[in-house]
Amino acid sequence: MHAWEKQGMENVFPGFSDFASLDEVGPIVLSHGDGIYVVDIDGKRYLDANSGLWNNVAGFNHQGLIDALCAQARRFPGYHSFFGRVADVTVELSKRLIGLSPFEDGKVYYTNSGSEANDTMVKMLWMINRARGEPERRKIITRHNAYHGVTIATASMTGKPYNAEFGLPLPGFLHADCPHFWRYGLPEESEEDFTQRMARNLEDLIEREGPETIAGMFAEPVQGAGGVIPPSKGYFQAIRPILRKYDIPLIADEVICGFGRLGEMWGSDVYDIEPDAIIASKCLTAGYYPMGAVILGEQLTAALMEASERFGEFPNGFTAAGSPLGSAVALKALDVIENEGLIDNVRALTPHFQERLGRFADHPHAGEVRGVGFMGAIEIVADKNTKAAFDSKVGISEKIANTALQNGLICRPLGASVVLAPPFIITRQEMEGMFDTLEKTIAEVFADVRS
Ligand SMILES: *Cc1c(COP(=O)(O)O)cnc(C)c1O
Repeated sequence: MHAWEKQGMENVFPGFSDFASLDEVGPIVLSHGDGIYVVDIDGKRYLDANSGLWNNVAGFNHQGLIDALCAQARRFPGYHSFFGRVADVTVELSKRLIGLSPFEDGKVYYTNSGSEANDTMVKMLWMINRARGEPERRKIITRHNAYHGVTIATASMTGKPYNAEFGLPLPGFLHADCPHFWRYGLPEESEEDFTQRMARNLEDLIEREGPETIAGMFAEPVQGAGGVIPPSKGYFQAIRPILRKYDIPLIADEVICGFGRLGEMWGSDVYDIEPDAIIASKCLTAGYYPMGAVILGEQLTAALMEASERFGEFPNGFTAAGSPLGSAVALKALDVIENEGLIDNVRALTPHFQERLGRFADHPHAGEVRGVGFMGAIEIVADKNTKAAFDSKVGISEKIANTALQNGLICRPLGASVVLAPPFIITRQEMEGMFDTLEKTIAEVFADVRS
């Protein structure tokens, strides 16, 4: 370990970083980016096959985004949005977001992150229900393997076992089934039957808890941090009528899927989700500024307006949210994605991405290869027939990711899966390089594991 890496360990406390790997290789101290590559302090280049954290879709030094940021910084860099103040660019962005949304009309509420947006959405639902005279309607349904953030409420919504370390979830946060057919389908069960079972179990959960106690359900169109899990066939069509029947709003957490990751503007478009609200963040600023947004459809807008008018205001706000800088960057990011070829590139290269990903299916330790759009995962198993995972002590996906790093490739270990989510600007040639390096890496790791 060099001086920078040592120092990187000394005074930085890392979140979501595997301490065993940190001890072994130290942190990667980065100095800058170049297209879809990031460059460390020693000049080593890494192709980032995860777009940073799903968000740097325009790469790491996009001149248009940098110019938009600098221009706004010269014009009006920072202001809050409390007390009825709002920056002109934020007004413009809101109009743009409602125009892009599946809603005829609606309003946008800004935060600094996806977690804060989900957290705020929960408060909105609670306030609406109190104002309606249904104060007991507070429970939130999410799903196992879901990721909705790290605040106390959103960690409670996240369906990952690690939140038990914090004594979470809080009471009233319920977890329905994860609709992952390959992993949770029963022997002899068809995918259609599996979907129907998922829907029945959801209805049973609602009935058991009491429909009058449920405030809303949050769902990612494709579960991202859960390991890239697209819904089973017909899943949203099966659960939508149940939620309507019990008057439970469906909130699409589009923090990963939103703005083109699946080749459409929203995951909700791909799966016909018909959400009541959308949670956005990550790609909204292409990773160049912290920003999250709650995009409310017509009904929830009206309900929240009514509740807020009754009390006099919506008593919630983040000091830096809806900032002019973030708004200017978001406006440019939407331009870049929609009008400067990024979403077109996702559409054009998706067949190739999925085809090269699919080739891993023949590997003796690839349990399932799955993906949609520019999202893909290879779930590694010890035994393909039983789908048994490797002993977690082996740390197989971490091994693959660490070896990939040595080979100049950043890919992400998520549970037993290795995840790819390349930037939208990736070229076909860069994509070939990405997959070639991953193939080589996996071959090296298994040669090592076997010996
Ligand atoms: C990343 C993510 C969040 C949390 O966003 P932060 O900006 O990290 O707080 C919420 N939901 C989904 C689906 C995410 O992927």
